[in-house]
Amino acid sequence: RKLGYAVVGLGYYATQQIMPKLAECRNSKLVALVSGTPEKLERYGREYGIPATHRYSYANYDRMRDNPDIDIVYVVLPNSMHAEYTIRAAQAGKHVLCEKPMAVSVAECEAMIAASKRAGRKLMIGYRSRFEPHNKLAIKLARGAEFGPTRIITAEHGFDAQPNQWRLDKAMSGGGSLMDIGIYSLNAARYLTGEEPVAVSAVEATDRSDPRFASVEDRIDFILRFPSGVLASCVSSYSSNHNGYRVTGTKGWIELEPATPYGGQQMRVRRDGKTSDITPPPQDYDQFVGQLDHLSQCIIDDRQPIVPGEEGLADLRVIEAIYRSARERRQVTL
Ligand code: NAD
Repeated sequence: RKLGYAVVGLGYYATQQIMPKLAECRNSKLVALVSGTPEKLERYGREYGIPATHRYSYANYDRMRDNPDIDIVYVVLPNSMHAEYTIRAAQAGKHVLCEKPMAVSVAECEAMIAASKRAGRKLMIGYRSRFEPHNKLAIKLARGAEFGPTRIITAEHGFDAQPNQWRLDKAMSGGGSLMDIGIYSLNAARYLTGEEPVAVSAVEATDRSDPRFASVEDRIDFILRFPSGVLASCVSSYSSNHNGYRVTGTKGWIELEPATPYGGQQMRVRRDGKTSDITPPPQDYDQFVGQLDHLSQCIIDDRQPIVPGEEGLADLRVIEAIYRSARERRQVTL
């Protein structure tokens, strides 16, 4: 059977990227909507054939408990709301897919994991790149023998942030570029090595007279040192465009640019003094469908998703260390 998703927060990502993709899924479907705006519930309810009985507000959210059509709650709200709505969904007996960043602190991530465990339900984080073919191949090559052991990773993510949005309000976002886009550099360095960093050094540069950056950081670059000795140099920016990474081993390199957008990834490798373009083996589903169906399949098979809550927690641990390193102007060990 197809498992039923309730989508919570009908903003850009939910309505423009996720909801259309649920129709393409093999074992997932959209069955319910949650929004604080009645007009959105009416409009998207009509568009997706979701009856009034399956439209919820934040006030009657917990009543999803009584709706057996809902298996999974997908939390696509501003970052500071992820913890509360994940925990309430778990308490209502639902599995949860929660967007990145998992939450705004390590403590919140731990509470979310504990709530899901207590309820006996699964918790997955929306790290869609793990279901994208170029990234999957990059992981395989980076961890394989062909390019030699990895020595250096460079990863860059950034965009020019639009003013007047919750992302620029620290109370809602938990932080600036790092929480939103720099997290892709961090997460890539972790999935390309398969290791957890042991030390981090970070430097921040933010023009506080720019009205966008009154409460959150603009640029924050960081270097991660991994147990095997790999160094990852990472860019995070809210005032310049970046999207790519390169993994350099002793025998060559693997590069993705762009690496983590919604589509259009390009891959090049250099080996034996020659650079060439590479196309990964085709996949009959995209990263969005792959992510949505992965959680459904894990529930059906009762196994742990490849990006569980612990994965979101691991990123938040490093993020807290990055902020501390920048603030205290010193290397922080983990
Ligand atoms: P958005 O602003 O477009 O949507 C947020 C939604 O939350 C809106 O519908 C808004 O009405 C609702 N909301 C409820 N209470 C709110 C409040 N108090 N203040 C502000 N909004 C409130 O944002 P988005 O771009 O859709 O991002 C939502 C989440 O999805 C974020 O956590 C973001 O990091 C994540 N995201 C992930 C990806 C990805 O590729 N994985 C892409 C975009 C966004």
